[in-house]
Amino acid sequence: MSKWVYSFGAGHNEGKAEMRNLLGGKGANLAEMASIGLPVPPGFTITTEVCTYYYDHGKQYPSELRDQVGEALARVEAAVGTKFGDTHKPLLVSVRSGARVSMPGMMDTVLNLGLNDRTVEGLAAASGDARFAWDSYRRFIQMFGGVVLGIDHHRFEEIIEHVKLDRGVIEDTELTAQDWHRVVDGCKEMVAEVKGQPFPQHPQDQLWAAIGAVFGSWMNPRANTYRRLHDIPANWGTAVNVQAMVFGNMGEDCATGVCFTRDPSTGENIFYGEYLINAQGEDVVAGIRTPQPMSKARAKPGERSMEEAMPGAYQELVKVRETLERHYTDMQDIEFTVQQNKLYMLQTRNGKRTAAASLKIAVDMAREGLIDEKEAIKRVNPAALDQLLHPTLDPKAPRKLLSKGLPASPGAACGTVVFSADEAEARAAKGENVILVRIETSPEDIHGMHAAKGILTTRGGMTSHAAVVARGMGRPCVAGAGGVTVDYGAQALAAGGQIVRAGETITLDGATGEIFIGPVAMVEPQLSGDFATLMEWADKVRRLRVRTNAETPLDADTARKFGAEGIGLCRTEHMFFDPARIGAVRQMIMSETESGRREALSRLLPFQRQDFAELFRIMAGLPVTIRLLDPPLHEFLPHSEAEIAEVASSLGTDVVTMQRRAQELSEANPMLGHRGCRLGISYPEIYEMQARAIFEAAVQIAKETGKAPVPEIMIPLVATRRELEITKAQVDKVAQEVFAESGHHVEYYVGTMIELPRACLTADRIAEVGDFFSFGTNDLTQTTFGLSRDDAGKFLPLYVEKGIMPKDPFVSIDPDGVGALVRIAKEKGRAVKPDLKLGICGEHGGDPASIQFCEEAGLDYVSCSPYRVPVARLAAAQAALSGGGTDRTA
Ligand code: ADP
Ligand code: MG
Ligand code: MG
Repeated sequence: MSKWVYSFGAGHNEGKAEMRNLLGGKGANLAEMASIGLPVPPGFTITTEVCTYYYDHGKQYPSELRDQVGEALARVEAAVGTKFGDTHKPLLVSVRSGARVSMPGMMDTVLNLGLNDRTVEGLAAASGDARFAWDSYRRFIQMFGGVVLGIDHHRFEEIIEHVKLDRGVIEDTELTAQDWHRVVDGCKEMVAEVKGQPFPQHPQDQLWAAIGAVFGSWMNPRANTYRRLHDIPANWGTAVNVQAMVFGNMGEDCATGVCFTRDPSTGENIFYGEYLINAQGEDVVAGIRTPQPMSKARAKPGERSMEEAMPGAYQELVKVRETLERHYTDMQDIEFTVQQNKLYMLQTRNGKRTAAASLKIAVDMAREGLIDEKEAIKRVNPAALDQLLHPTLDPKAPRKLLSKGLPASPGAACGTVVFSADEAEARAAKGENVILVRIETSPEDIHGMHAAKGILTTRGGMTSHAAVVARGMGRPCVAGAGGVTVDYGAQALAAGGQIVRAGETITLDGATGEIFIGPVAMVEPQLSGDFATLMEWADKVRRLRVRTNAETPLDADTARKFGAEGIGLCRTEHMFFDPARIGAVRQMIMSETESGRREALSRLLPFQRQDFAELFRIMAGLPVTIRLLDPPLHEFLPHSEAEIAEVASSLGTDVVTMQRRAQELSEANPMLGHRGCRLGISYPEIYEMQARAIFEAAVQIAKETGKAPVPEIMIPLVATRRELEITKAQVDKVAQEVFAESGHHVEYYVGTMIELPRACLTADRIAEVGDFFSFGTNDLTQTTFGLSRDDAGKFLPLYVEKGIMPKDPFVSIDPDGVGALVRIAKEKGRAVKPDLKLGICGEHGGDPASIQFCEEAGLDYVSCSPYRVPVARLAAAQAALSGGGTDRTA
């Protein structure tokens, strides 16, 4: 015979915390609290399996259920010493929903069940308080009417209002027993009218109707939406908890409250919460009366803390708080009721908290000895760390919402609106804080994005240019704000009838996607203290190294401060876009002869040398991976007619020639076209110049600082061994030249970016030539799926929604396809070179799930944008702790 019902309380606990799948979180924890000796009113839990059975069998219960409920109810009656439906001393119960995971406020609870026209008199007599009895009865009718009978709650409130008006009082508390009796009569009449039958008087009927309603509420639209948003399967079901009532509304020595064992917004180790004297259940959150603080320390003038008002019950609760934290070793969110100065516990669960609180609580608890350092590392969600590394809006600050877009890059930014990158740069140079507002951004806007405090675009998704670049730079960004229109001509943006002009101030919250008019106060991030401590602990356990993707000194510097252990990807093309150099770059592209190109390149050489020298200096002896020029040349061409004319004149040629050349360079499919090492092979002088700049800079810094940098030169888009052989030979030749000229030698490596499936499949041959592999998983994902990242926005969200792909493969590495290729490349590569260094760069390097994959695949390092370095350090530590493979064998 199956067991469908589990008792708790009064020394008979059949459940425990580990049984949350069967008993729901609420039921499991009620049993757990009771079994560790906390004062829990007795009751029983009808399991989630009954819910599943109910929906699988046309809303029928298992046949044994009635008997099992009857037995469990009898046990509660015996424990409390009252009887369900007894007219002298009636037992009242609550009927509470409770799924595996908490679904706050999604499903329904009925309190005071068991009251009817006769038991209410018994309750009045037994408690000696008629007002309390009639108030409880009307609450029951209201809740049962709403939850079980589906009557709109306004209908009940109208009746209460009517009685209040008639009596000339304002507060519920001013109503007498007779008044509540009138309310009850009014409510019953209304229910009879609406439902065509009287309000159920028989307690057994009430009980089964309420149980049915709780199971029914599992499928209500609110709950369905919540489950969809939180990936909770419908077949988990909810449990139903039936529990003896305790009363917080029996007088001035009674109360009810909700609290957290620590402050859920800051994590501070203080008792945090609210309570109300002479109140029941939801009154605390209902907002009808103002709840009061728990501790004296937190009470403002005019408030009366529980510590002062009910010192006995408060001290008992303080002890419970300690017991619970020691037992669960986590911050708890609890519900309690005090009946005539006696404390009862009604719920406990792990409390939801902000990112800041989660960090502080984890570190504090480890220091307090509640958990160890490893557990503290596991407790903090790496993705949440992201929020802590940027300034955020002060939660208390007033604000005026303008519109909302996608939360593309976290952090808050406030500044004056500008509509062009040049304007952004010019104003920022004068010390102004600016927000760059564009319909969308392109590589030509980089300098303006860098200069801006924040970026707002009205088009494009989470992987749009604006979003990716802003995340890389650590700039807050709201992208794809479709409700905002931008008029460059009028220099204004508009949303919902409100207009903001250039020069006026807006504030962005990149973590929520919200856009506010005017300034909003902010709080600065804290990188020392608990943050530093947790990072230190993480570094002790992680195996994966963490490098950064950086090409500017600012990014490199930021990344070092965040703990980067070298550069994993320096994209040299970003250096080409610099306004001071784009002229020479364009000259190089335009010239149709090698000598013309060489001349332009010789003008670029000093710039590049200086760039690399600065990076080497900042990275002080750490590895620096530099990728030689990757994108197709046409990307550097001017776009507008005015720009074309300008370049033509500066190069002493005409617009027609310029346009012809641009046409020659244009490709049907640039992503799969003349780029990467293909460019380096057609125009060897480009890679030669870059190699020279790298070696000259390395020699210079080695001499200057005595700390020789270790350049790792990376050839992009290699598909065949021969490509790498040719380009590597070019690089080696330049190295020998520079070393001979300078009389100085530095250690260096030449390897390749693995970003094509063919490279993975022939990695053994490529490894014979290359010193290292860095998986360029952005392109590897594009080429594996045959899917362009820039066009994926049109259907990828639908794919994810329909479950065709579990996640966006550009955000989180696709373990089955792309991951399989990475593993093949690793095995083939290490079979040839057991010490082959393996890393990953690109957006995936900062994604915790992808980092877990890298740990399991046995890579050596991940590389990510500067602001994600701490995220990666923590995620790498968690991956190591979760027992990811460390197989370094071939
Ligand atoms: P939710 O999941 O929405 O919090 P609950 O089942 O926890 O719903 O109950 C709603 C309110 O009723 C809570 O304030 C709870 O503490 C209170 N409550 C539930 N059961 C009892 C009971 N047996 N005695 C007194 N109050 C109760
Ligand atoms: Mg609750
Ligand atoms: Mg690439």
